[in-house]
Amino acid sequence: MSERDLGSYEMLWDCQGCDTKKLLGKTHRFCPNCGAAQDPARRYFPSDAEKIAVKDHVFFGADVMCRACGVPNSRNAKHCVACGADLGNAKDAVTRDDQVKASGGTFAGETSKDAKREREQKKAAASGQAPPAKTTSGGIRFFPHGVIALVVLFIAFIIVALVWKKEAAITVTGHTWQRTIDIEKFGPKRDSAWCDSMPGDAYRVSKSREVRSHRKVADGETCSTRRKDQGDGTFKEVEECRTKYRDEPVYDDKCSYTVDRWQRDRTVSADGATLAETPAWPAVRLSRTGSCMGCEREGPRHEKYELHVKTDEEGKTSSCGFDQNKWSGIADGSRWKMKFAVITGLPDCDSMIAP
Ligand SMILES: [Zn+2]
Ligand SMILES: [Zn+2]
Repeated sequence: MSERDLGSYEMLWDCQGCDTKKLLGKTHRFCPNCGAAQDPARRYFPSDAEKIAVKDHVFFGADVMCRACGVPNSRNAKHCVACGADLGNAKDAVTRDDQVKASGGTFAGETSKDAKREREQKKAAASGQAPPAKTTSGGIRFFPHGVIALVVLFIAFIIVALVWKKEAAITVTGHTWQRTIDIEKFGPKRDSAWCDSMPGDAYRVSKSREVRSHRKVADGETCSTRRKDQGDGTFKEVEECRTKYRDEPVYDDKCSYTVDRWQRDRTVSADGATLAETPAWPAVRLSRTGSCMGCEREGPRHEKYELHVKTDEEGKTSSCGFDQNKWSGIADGSRWKMKFAVITGLPDCDSMIAP
């Protein structure tokens, strides 16, 4: 973010003694009409049209408040201009919050009422109370509480569905098994990749231009003007600018190509539905072996052993997958206990125990 100094200007204040309005914060340390000392708490920002520049402004810091008489003094003063008391450990004068507007707009100007309202809001916030609602042109956006409630309810439902289980007596009604072997074939395969990561043995390559990523590109600036109360009866205007960015696509070459690879071509399988026969792998017959085009080889093997059960009370059937050892060790017709999810009715196969 870049900052540009736009100069220093007089804050305004209203006299609390005679109610003279729009006195100058820097020039009128005392009311020219009745002589009352300026109260920094009553300072406010002028409109753009009414602002008065402070030429060659030397900034010492925020004013300090005399402990003896309460009159604000310049930071570089050693003794109070009003009563002469020592200003050794005097408190800083209060300052207003910054004013900010987008560049191009104008500051509307305030009255001492705005200064008072801001002071009361700060006091309320400090004592833990909610500040009075501020009306903004955009309005206040409420988070949809109904949506949150629904999401919470949905998550709770999922948790209950997973956790809430009930035990039931079951009888084993049957066994099934299946063993399969993938058969792979060597041959051409179409694929695509960014050309810089294409395999070396690719052929029949065609290229196209595609968006590979996005990069941020500077695209002008957004600026705003900030007014900072300096606490010495003046405020400073600065222009703050931030670079804007937009996403720009970055193109690269995409290659479509052919490579010769082993790929799953078919599967052979064997299955059974009884414990009586021992599960076996299916017979494999390969058309041609070797590494020629169209040659075949055995790929990965898969096996599945399922136990079928029925609840004694409701007669509800379900099945459980186990490893072959456990599966073959459980007899048809034997009786067990198992937990079931109450909402979904799904079995918790690992909970199966002897009754
Ligand atoms: Zn006055
Ligand atoms: Zn004093």
